[in-house]
Amino acid sequence: MSEPSTTIFDEILAGDIPCHRVYEDDHVLAFLDINPLSPGHLLVIPKEAKAHLHQLSDESAAAVGRALPRLCRAVMQVSGSSAYNVLQNNGASAHQAVFHVHFHIIPKLEDGRGLGIHWPAAALESPEEMVEGLRSALERDPS
Ligand code: AMP
Repeated sequence: MSEPSTTIFDEILAGDIPCHRVYEDDHVLAFLDINPLSPGHLLVIPKEAKAHLHQLSDESAAAVGRALPRLCRAVMQVSGSSAYNVLQNNGASAHQAVFHVHFHIIPKLEDGRGLGIHWPAAALESPEEMVEGLRSALERDPS
């Protein structure tokens, strides 16, 4: 994947362009999505400049993970909906447009506003082989 090394979210973090800031701590910033799928659609980003989730340090990942449930609760309160999606895209073909890790929190409203999902599920021919491949990948990449 070849992506720009600085993104619009780096400019937001640097204070060079404005955002509607909702939450900030040492490692995390949350702000309103400029083009929301539903009112309350939030973006939660690590301050660490990494394009993809698999590149994130444990420290940043933990900080984002710690902030997410509280931010989800705030989104639920303002949207009045207990249904929401948390979406995190990696790679242009997976719908990533901004190459700085970000989590969307998207309220799903009764009128249908929110994330629409296409879910073309299909059974695996050999789940055992898949599990074996994944387990050996994890063994080669200890935490
Ligand atoms: P993704 O497709 O997961 O990369 O989503 C990128 C998101 O960033 C989109 O939902 C955009 O609306 C949002 N976005 C892009 N620029 C800005 C900005 N300046 N402020 C807030 N959100 C933005």
